[in-house]
Amino acid sequence: MTRYTVTSALPYANGPQHFGHMVGAYLPADVYVRTLRMQGEDVLFVCGGDEHGVAITIGAEREGVPYPEYVAHWREVIHDGLKRLGVEFDIFSGTSVCPQHVATSQEFFRRLDAGGYVQKQASEQLFCATDDMFLADRYVEGTCPKCGFERARGDECPRCGSWIDPLEMPVARCKVCGNAPERRSTTHWYLDLPKLRDEFLGPWVEQHEWKPNVAAFIKNMLADTRPRAITRDMKWGVPVPPDIAGEETGKVLYVWFDAPIGYLSFTKQWAAERGEPDAWEPWWKDPETRLVHFIGKDNIPFHCLVFPAMLYGQHEGFVVPWQVPANEFYNLQGGKFSTSGQWTIPLDAFFERYDAEVARFYLISSMPETKDSEWNWTEFQNCANALLADTIGNLATRVLRFVDKHFEGRIPALRAEHEEELDRVLLCECGPFGDPAEHVRAFRFRRAAEQLIENARVANVFVDRMAPWTLKKTDPELAGSVLATCCEWISWVARWSAPFMPEKAQALWAMLGHDSEVRDQPCPGVPRPGAWRGLEAGRPLGEVRGLFAKIDDATVAAEIAALEQRAAAAGS
Ligand SMILES: [Zn+2]
Ligand SMILES: [Zn+2]
Repeated sequence: MTRYTVTSALPYANGPQHFGHMVGAYLPADVYVRTLRMQGEDVLFVCGGDEHGVAITIGAEREGVPYPEYVAHWREVIHDGLKRLGVEFDIFSGTSVCPQHVATSQEFFRRLDAGGYVQKQASEQLFCATDDMFLADRYVEGTCPKCGFERARGDECPRCGSWIDPLEMPVARCKVCGNAPERRSTTHWYLDLPKLRDEFLGPWVEQHEWKPNVAAFIKNMLADTRPRAITRDMKWGVPVPPDIAGEETGKVLYVWFDAPIGYLSFTKQWAAERGEPDAWEPWWKDPETRLVHFIGKDNIPFHCLVFPAMLYGQHEGFVVPWQVPANEFYNLQGGKFSTSGQWTIPLDAFFERYDAEVARFYLISSMPETKDSEWNWTEFQNCANALLADTIGNLATRVLRFVDKHFEGRIPALRAEHEEELDRVLLCECGPFGDPAEHVRAFRFRRAAEQLIENARVANVFVDRMAPWTLKKTDPELAGSVLATCCEWISWVARWSAPFMPEKAQALWAMLGHDSEVRDQPCPGVPRPGAWRGLEAGRPLGEVRGLFAKIDDATVAAEIAALEQRAAAAGS
């Protein structure tokens, strides 16, 4: 048994998530965690809100809501959406509410400082005398120094796309009061990434095996590391430890510095809530522990370079990431997901109309694993109808309804003299099958989903070929053996499905008469002739019911039309 600390990127608590976020860092992590657990591994699955930073203070101020209330609202909305998709964390906390977060983040800062990895430096920044505060980039607007556009933001010009240093803007205004800011000197702390690169990151990145889409990205970044500011002049955030800040007051840790520490502080919270405050240690300090960060591609620099460097710089024996499965971008029907542009799928309406487990399966099947991909309504329909209803659903209903009707609703007996021949036909002649869990462990989620469907198809080929409905009249004992074999295969399909569609798998498992939880069963692997059956003849089936509802063409057309209408209305 190996210990896995699995994290999903902390969602930024200033807006709702869409399927693109969910398929990037949350759903695959959930499937991975469920698979590892069925294989007997020891897993902790950690997540929570990323709740500091300027985008949040601006969002809250715009709505006239106190910061804590604002982030609590979005934390809950985001967590609810993930729960509806069946994503189950061991802890979902938040960087502004986790009781261990401030102390843990300050301790990180202190240890980096003590190790000589932090430099203190004064620089000029814009200060608004009216609001009595230093202005973070996004609190400034004005003229773009590159193209002259007059309504550029302090971090980026929406017209020419240049990154802007607000000090270089020929005309600048405070976004809060509209007055012109002045320049003032302020002191900040910088993380010495070049030193961390030379001591640790360089050699580590070099010998680590990365997903190909991650490898190229970080090697380029590594060549161009510079010291990065890790503090800000703000009130909302983790205060710089007072013993280090000295007379420099009003400084907080920069949001990108404290956010990934959330993985660790939430683990401490999880341990404390179980009444074992030290129980977090093996998850972060046992050298055998495998730390896995599920993220979208925009988070690669922090999870592959900055956070590992921060962990190393503690000199406390923290593990560094074992794998960072980063996904590419996920689009919607030929365009980018956009909440403001209404190019999105409203989740409340979606979950009222459609089966969340079908959405899980479709999202996994279309995941942007190696390149960008998209949600396409016609492909969603095809997945629901042809992949799920016609293979897994059809297999279950036609076999189990027949057993219900003609075998008194009990698992038929397998006659010993039929076993070898039926194993041969099913396992050698009805098509390829394999273990979806193996693909999941190798982070090949799309292939894993495909494998599950291929496995279900094998039994459908077997049923067609053996035609138990005809056999029932000519050789009822052979018919019984064939159906017993089909029931066995369905019990494998139930276990194979459990990480992808936990509720469907449980329903299937219960239809076979089990009163246990399918998620508590070991991962089945692949069947071997003569050694794969486990059902007890004569066991009564549970209630047999349809698993998947089909989606018709009119519904799909209506969804696409509604999407286009919403987007057109938002654009006008
Ligand atoms: Zn510009
Ligand atoms: Zn102002």
